[in-house]
Amino acid sequence: MTYDTNNIFAKILRGEIPCEKLYEDEHTLAFMDIMPQAEGHCLVIPKKPSTGLLDADPIVFASLFSTVQKVARAAKAAMQADGVTVMQFNGAAAGQTVFHLHVHILPRKDGIALKAHSGQMEKSEIIKANAEKIRAALTI
Ligand code: AMP
Repeated sequence: MTYDTNNIFAKILRGEIPCEKLYEDEHTLAFMDIMPQAEGHCLVIPKKPSTGLLDADPIVFASLFSTVQKVARAAKAAMQADGVTVMQFNGAAAGQTVFHLHVHILPRKDGIALKAHSGQMEKSEIIKANAEKIRAALTI
Protein backbone atom coordinates (compact mmCIF):
# COMPACT_ATOMS: atom_id res chain seq x y z
CA MET A 1 0.00 0.00 0.00
CA THR A 2 1.37 3.41 -0.92
CA TYR A 3 1.30 6.25 1.59
CA ASP A 4 -1.47 8.78 0.91
CA THR A 5 -0.18 12.25 1.79
CA ASN A 6 -3.79 13.39 2.24
CA ASN A 7 -4.62 11.06 5.13
CA ILE A 8 -6.06 12.78 8.22
CA PHE A 9 -2.90 12.50 10.32
CA ALA A 10 -0.72 13.90 7.51
CA LYS A 11 -3.11 16.86 7.41
CA ILE A 12 -2.83 17.25 11.19
CA LEU A 13 0.98 17.19 10.91
CA ARG A 14 0.85 19.92 8.26
CA GLY A 15 -1.52 21.98 10.44
CA GLU A 16 -4.30 21.77 7.83
CA ILE A 17 -6.79 20.34 10.31
CA PRO A 18 -6.79 20.93 14.06
CA CYS A 19 -5.97 18.50 16.84
CA GLU A 20 -5.95 18.66 20.62
CA LYS A 21 -2.18 18.55 20.97
CA LEU A 22 -0.54 17.00 24.04
CA TYR A 23 3.13 16.85 23.13
CA GLU A 24 5.39 17.49 20.16
CA ASP A 25 9.09 17.11 19.50
CA GLU A 26 11.31 16.89 16.42
CA HIS A 27 10.16 13.38 15.51
CA THR A 28 6.74 12.78 17.09
CA LEU A 29 3.34 14.32 17.85
CA ALA A 30 0.80 13.23 20.49
CA PHE A 31 -2.85 14.33 20.47
CA MET A 32 -6.27 13.31 21.73
CA ASP A 33 -8.37 10.73 19.85
CA ILE A 34 -11.73 12.29 18.94
CA MET A 35 -13.58 8.97 19.26
CA PRO A 36 -12.15 7.75 22.55
CA GLN A 37 -12.47 4.11 23.55
CA ALA A 38 -11.52 5.05 27.11
CA GLU A 39 -11.29 8.29 29.08
CA GLY A 40 -8.05 10.02 28.05
CA HIS A 41 -7.56 7.95 24.84
CA CYS A 42 -4.73 9.56 22.89
CA LEU A 43 -2.51 8.84 19.90
CA VAL A 44 1.18 9.17 19.15
CA ILE A 45 2.45 9.45 15.58
CA PRO A 46 5.90 9.71 14.04
CA LYS A 47 6.44 12.69 11.75
CA LYS A 48 8.18 10.48 9.19
CA PRO A 49 5.49 9.03 6.90
CA SER A 50 4.57 5.35 6.72
CA THR A 51 1.16 3.69 6.45
CA GLY A 52 1.83 1.52 9.49
CA LEU A 53 4.36 -0.53 11.41
CA LEU A 54 5.24 -2.85 8.54
CA ASP A 55 6.52 -0.21 6.11
CA ALA A 56 8.04 2.11 8.74
CA ASP A 57 11.73 2.97 8.87
CA PRO A 58 12.87 1.30 12.13
CA ILE A 59 14.73 4.50 12.94
CA VAL A 60 11.38 5.99 14.06
CA PHE A 61 10.70 3.38 16.75
CA ALA A 62 13.02 4.75 19.44
CA SER A 63 11.55 8.25 19.33
CA LEU A 64 8.00 6.95 18.80
CA PHE A 65 8.07 4.66 21.83
CA SER A 66 9.92 7.18 23.94
CA THR A 67 6.96 9.53 23.36
CA VAL A 68 4.48 6.68 23.89
CA GLN A 69 6.07 6.00 27.29
CA LYS A 70 6.09 9.69 28.25
CA VAL A 71 2.47 10.26 27.26
CA ALA A 72 1.26 6.91 28.67
CA ARG A 73 2.73 7.77 32.08
CA ALA A 74 1.07 11.20 32.00
CA ALA A 75 -2.29 9.87 30.76
CA LYS A 76 -2.34 7.14 33.44
CA ALA A 77 -1.61 9.67 36.17
CA ALA A 78 -3.99 12.31 34.79
CA MET A 79 -6.91 9.90 34.41
CA GLN A 80 -6.11 8.20 37.73
CA ALA A 81 -6.10 4.96 35.78
CA ASP A 82 -5.12 1.51 37.05
CA GLY A 83 -3.35 0.50 33.84
CA VAL A 84 -2.70 1.48 30.23
CA THR A 85 -3.47 -0.45 27.04
CA VAL A 86 -1.15 0.37 24.11
CA MET A 87 -2.36 -0.81 20.71
CA GLN A 88 -1.58 -0.40 17.04
CA PHE A 89 -3.34 -1.71 13.90
CA ASN A 90 -1.94 -2.54 10.45
CA GLY A 91 -4.29 -2.80 7.46
CA ALA A 92 -8.06 -2.53 7.18
CA ALA A 93 -8.37 -6.23 8.01
CA ALA A 94 -6.70 -5.50 11.35
CA GLY A 95 -9.02 -2.57 12.09
CA GLN A 96 -6.82 0.28 10.82
CA THR A 97 -8.82 3.26 9.57
CA VAL A 98 -6.16 5.98 9.27
CA PHE A 99 -3.16 5.01 7.18
CA HIS A 100 -0.35 6.88 8.92
CA LEU A 101 1.47 4.88 11.61
CA HIS A 102 -0.02 5.61 15.04
CA VAL A 103 -0.01 4.12 18.51
CA HIS A 104 -3.12 4.20 20.71
CA ILE A 105 -2.74 4.96 24.42
CA LEU A 106 -5.77 3.92 26.48
CA PRO A 107 -5.82 4.61 30.21
CA ARG A 108 -7.72 1.72 31.86
CA LYS A 109 -9.71 1.48 35.05
CA ASP A 110 -10.40 -1.78 36.83
CA GLY A 111 -13.62 -3.38 35.55
CA ILE A 112 -14.28 -0.82 32.76
CA ALA A 113 -14.36 -2.30 29.24
CA LEU A 114 -13.09 -0.46 26.17
CA LYS A 115 -15.74 1.25 24.04
CA ALA A 116 -16.07 0.44 20.32
CA HIS A 117 -13.15 1.27 18.03
CA SER A 118 -13.82 4.44 15.95
CA GLY A 119 -17.27 4.45 17.53
CA GLN A 120 -18.67 7.75 18.72
CA MET A 121 -17.34 11.32 18.68
CA GLU A 122 -16.78 12.69 22.19
CA LYS A 123 -17.92 16.22 23.15
CA SER A 124 -15.08 18.66 22.51
CA GLU A 125 -15.33 20.05 26.09
CA ILE A 126 -14.59 16.59 27.48
CA ILE A 127 -11.68 16.02 25.08
CA LYS A 128 -10.26 19.45 26.00
CA ALA A 129 -10.66 18.88 29.74
CA ASN A 130 -8.90 15.51 29.56
CA ALA A 131 -6.17 17.00 27.36
CA GLU A 132 -5.54 19.73 29.92
CA LYS A 133 -5.13 17.15 32.67
CA ILE A 134 -2.71 15.09 30.55
CA ARG A 135 -0.69 18.16 29.55
CA ALA A 136 -0.46 19.14 33.22
CA ALA A 137 0.78 15.63 34.10
CA LEU A 138 3.37 15.82 31.30
CA THR A 139 5.07 18.78 32.91
CA ILE A 140 5.54 17.01 36.27
P1 AMP B 1 -7.00 3.15 13.58
O1 AMP B 1 -8.33 2.49 13.39
O2 AMP B 1 -6.02 2.39 14.41
O3 AMP B 1 -6.47 3.58 12.25
O4 AMP B 1 -7.29 4.41 14.47
C1 AMP B 1 -7.58 5.67 13.98
C2 AMP B 1 -7.99 6.45 15.20
O5 AMP B 1 -7.95 7.81 14.84
C3 AMP B 1 -9.39 6.12 15.72
O6 AMP B 1 -9.32 5.80 17.10
C4 AMP B 1 -10.16 7.43 15.48
O7 AMP B 1 -11.07 7.68 16.50
C5 AMP B 1 -9.04 8.45 15.45
N1 AMP B 1 -9.28 9.64 14.66
C6 AMP B 1 -9.82 9.72 13.44
N2 AMP B 1 -9.83 11.00 13.00
C7 AMP B 1 -9.24 11.74 13.98
C8 AMP B 1 -8.95 13.12 14.14
N3 AMP B 1 -9.24 14.02 13.19
N4 AMP B 1 -8.36 13.53 15.29
C9 AMP B 1 -8.08 12.64 16.26
N5 AMP B 1 -8.32 11.32 16.17
C10 AMP B 1 -8.90 10.87 15.05
